[in-house]
Amino acid sequence: MDGPGDSDLIRTEGEFRGCGPLIPPLSESTRPLRQQIFERVRAAGLMPRVQVARELSVSPATVTTLTSELIESGLLVEVAAPRETESGRGRPAVALGVRADAHLVAGIKLSDREHTAVLVDFAGNLIADEAIARHPNAVGVDDLAEATLTLLNRVCAKAGLTRSQLTAVGLAVPGYVDSATGIVHWSSVLQVRQVPLARVVSARLGLPVHIDNDANLVTLAELWFGAGRALADFAVVTIEHGLGMGFVINHRIYRGGRGIGMELGHTKVQLDGALCRCGQRGCLEAYVADYALVREATTALNWTGRESQSVTVILESLFDHAKAGNQAARSIFRRAGRYLALGLANVSNLFDPELIILSGERMRYDYLYAGETLAEMKTLMLDTGRPAPRVEIHAWGDLLWAHGAAALALSEVTEGLMGAARDPFAGP
Ligand SMILES: [Zn+2]
Repeated sequence: MDGPGDSDLIRTEGEFRGCGPLIPPLSESTRPLRQQIFERVRAAGLMPRVQVARELSVSPATVTTLTSELIESGLLVEVAAPRETESGRGRPAVALGVRADAHLVAGIKLSDREHTAVLVDFAGNLIADEAIARHPNAVGVDDLAEATLTLLNRVCAKAGLTRSQLTAVGLAVPGYVDSATGIVHWSSVLQVRQVPLARVVSARLGLPVHIDNDANLVTLAELWFGAGRALADFAVVTIEHGLGMGFVINHRIYRGGRGIGMELGHTKVQLDGALCRCGQRGCLEAYVADYALVREATTALNWTGRESQSVTVILESLFDHAKAGNQAARSIFRRAGRYLALGLANVSNLFDPELIILSGERMRYDYLYAGETLAEMKTLMLDTGRPAPRVEIHAWGDLLWAHGAAALALSEVTEGLMGAARDPFAGP
């Protein structure tokens, strides 16, 4: 027979099931306070303790305790700050800054043309850069690891450093890359699929290696060093060998639930459409990427017999023809531009970003983003009466992408030094 206590218990469980998001302890939104302090100081360059306390809404005493620990650990330094007013008297104002030589990292961009590397210090300052021509075809994973080693040794030599003085390396890889597991599912620079590239390159370099998709890392570069520093939500659409996108949501790169989201190039813009190099049909990339333009040029301009020429040479020739008034060449760029407008309108309708940055080597082909292309994007967007998002063209070179890879390494080193995994209350 049930007693009154049992039925009370059952009813109580039903009433306390809980609701609302179940967020793991010490997840990103609740990062350890000392990490938040460090990242805020790094972003500002210099920041007085009182401002840190104000911006994080914590007591000055807490900030003093935690910054003392960060100074003792050799991660922050005290710097005499410039006076805000000429009439300031009393003790000199002191600000906090990142100790630049605390850690050095490298960022490397692997691409279809050349591999590029930068060395940066812990405050994000550039120390040296270097580039090497890449093997003309996709290579095996050991060859790619060897090329990475050669490039890293060269950039270290240029800076008068040895590899062992680095703390970590960030690697930007074109293709489908799972940053969390370090696995490359497919890449145009590799002959093989499903490669644990981070692990293989790490073993070859003798250093921790963090990898991500190159579009994500050029986006990280804009977030850390570029036009996106103060923006919560923005998109970077890259036109290189293929078409990629990186997306920042609430000041963080969004990678999808399983690590390889935001593949704008393979969103479908035509049922049963043009064949894409991914094997499917009707992908946006199959209308906009360089191989799509080359395919059209071969047919429309009757350019048979050019199979031995590189994609870059054929594209340059197509661009020259368009500039010289060749209507067939112009219509190829215009059509690609219209498909790009369709893709950008879809991005805008889905995510409503503040800014869309178009980036990459192919942005030299200005037909792709001519005034009529951007006007077409607006006609394909929801008509809400508001202005369309800003579109900026950033034709930076590979160095910016390598900077993004360095930012990945910096953020991983920071996470390892003071992130949730290192929190004394987080358990083993
Ligand atoms: Zn595709």
